[in-house]
Amino acid sequence: MNDLKNKVAIVTGGASGIGRSVAELFALQNISALTIADIQSDLMHELSIDLEKRFDSKVLISKTDVSNQAAVNQMVQQTIDCFGQVDILVNNAGICPMVPWEETTLENWNQLLSVNLTSAFLCSQAVLPYMREKKYGRLIHISSVGAFIGSVTGHVAYGVSKAGIIALSKYLAKQFASEKILSNVVSPGSIDTPITESFGEENKKRFREFSPLKRQGTPQELAEAVLFLAGSGSSYITGSTIHVNGGSLLI
Ligand code: NAP
Repeated sequence: MNDLKNKVAIVTGGASGIGRSVAELFALQNISALTIADIQSDLMHELSIDLEKRFDSKVLISKTDVSNQAAVNQMVQQTIDCFGQVDILVNNAGICPMVPWEETTLENWNQLLSVNLTSAFLCSQAVLPYMREKKYGRLIHISSVGAFIGSVTGHVAYGVSKAGIIALSKYLAKQFASEKILSNVVSPGSIDTPITESFGEENKKRFREFSPLKRQGTPQELAEAVLFLAGSGSSYITGSTIHVNGGSLLI
């Protein structure tokens, strides 16, 4: 299957973990071009060299803080200048700091919401004019099991931000369906990436036990769901959430 052949995608947080796997899978599916937007310059640089060596896709890397509106608008403009279109946006960048309730402040609450939730609004708002012009678009947002059960670990605002992602996606799905722009969510359980690595072995063990499949997911397993929503096989799906969590919400 290579129905991404004439498509251009932006993947935020694409230097690491889930976003990196999404970028790799899109390139493997012969996507025409990719913008990787992240704050990790070295990782992005290394990934772009690797992708261009292995695949035919063009790759643009853009050091972008996705919570900053001017930076987001500049990154989208760069994508248009380089590739002339943007068909797929994957709102993936996020943080999950371990902050107990006693250390929660208005400042760190606002910071988390702005990186995990406001960013998705800003990126969606910036790409929509181009999607609306083409009457085609796929908005794919990464939520979390924390949206459904409250933050599993870390800051109270994490689960709140991820629940907000689902409401944002549903709004966009309804608002732009008539213009053939689809908006959907992929909601991961615990996935083996640098974020969960930073929680330590005890927490990782707890995550494994939490899933009936008794393991963490891989970034590739998550990327497969994103690819499905980006491709032609999902043309009648909008406003939905795909859970990729090894059954974690069953118990
Ligand atoms: P990851 O490996 O840390 O990748 C996230 C990338 O986003 C990192 O390169 C990170 O840089 C970058 N980033 C952070 N803040 C940013 C900003 N303001 N602007 C641009 N880029 C920024 O984490 P991941 O596990 O792949 O997570 C990807 C998404 O999945 C996140 O939204 C996360 O909440 C969600 N998710 C993950 C899991 C899981 O178990 N892994 C579960 C549920 C949901 P830094 O390394 O400098 O922060």
